Amino acid sequence: MPLKRLRSIAAYFADGLHLIFPDNCLACGGHLRYSERILCTACLLDIPLVRLTGSEDDSFEQLFIGQIPYERVAAFFYYTKKNKYANLMHELKYKGNQRAGVFLGELFGNQLKTTEFIHDIDCIVPVPLHAKRKRARGYNQSEILAQGIANSTSLPICANAVERSVNTETQTKKNKEERKHNVANIFTVTNHHLLQGKHILLLDDVITTGATTISCAETIFNQVENVRISIAGVALASN
Ligand SMILES: [Zn+2]
Repeated sequence: MPLKRLRSIAAYFADGLHLIFPDNCLACGGHLRYSERILCTACLLDIPLVRLTGSEDDSFEQLFIGQIPYERVAAFFYYTKKNKYANLMHELKYKGNQRAGVFLGELFGNQLKTTEFIHDIDCIVPVPLHAKRKRARGYNQSEILAQGIANSTSLPICANAVERSVNTETQTKKNKEERKHNVANIFTVTNHHLLQGKHILLLDDVITTGATTISCAETIFNQVENVRISIAGVALASN
């Protein structure tokens, strides 16, 4: 079959899929062209990116300095409830939109790949959800984001090495101290061998005060010998 005809058939099906699943940009709501997914090109280019470690903006790193002996920290984009990009996380967390999570993870992974950040990392550990909450949602959103990072970087995921053994109340209405208290000792390492001797990338979906991520890292440091931890948050909340 001539290539031109194959291309037109492919385009026909791509357009057809759009009719069946009309896709709109999750940030601005505009119609997506068939070469676009999740975000339109304008919104994709306009994501409020957090600069990576070593740049002049170290406000993200301030959350972790002196709290735990981490190797490196990174976050992907700034998150406020009023920002149009907040809808990406909303879709992932509350609307079952796993594609949005994989997409965001892939973008983050592509960004990390251009730096030294991941060069000696052995595996990604998504911050676990309590089993009850994971059952209710059907998945752990941090695992979905990790899948996206794994797609772009080829890093493996160690999803079952740590467990969230205490189901905590939501953190949204709590201040920094209350958050810290609320998440103390809520994690348990369930597979020490998987993490021993490794440099892991501990991945959280939204980082606000860093309390949950720090608590998870503390547990890993306390329960696993000879482990190094770098921290990544896909969204950095500014409230
Ligand atoms: Zn858009």
